Amino acid sequence: MGTTYVSEDELDEYLAAPDCPQCGSDNVELLDSYPDGMGGTVRVWICRLCGHTWTE
Ligand SMILES: [Zn+2]
Repeated sequence: MGTTYVSEDELDEYLAAPDCPQCGSDNVELLDSYPDGMGGTVRVWICRLCGHTWTE
């Protein structure tokens, strides 16, 4: 039917989930995201395994 119940934003965030730069785990959670002022988006991630937080 061409109808989807998954938001494209949520899918994009899921697909864009990085690996933790500290321990390499992909068990990470998106804490926050905001415009970087240059047309991109800054995302704040936290690793559920080691607790490391970073932005990218
Ligand atoms: Zn980690």
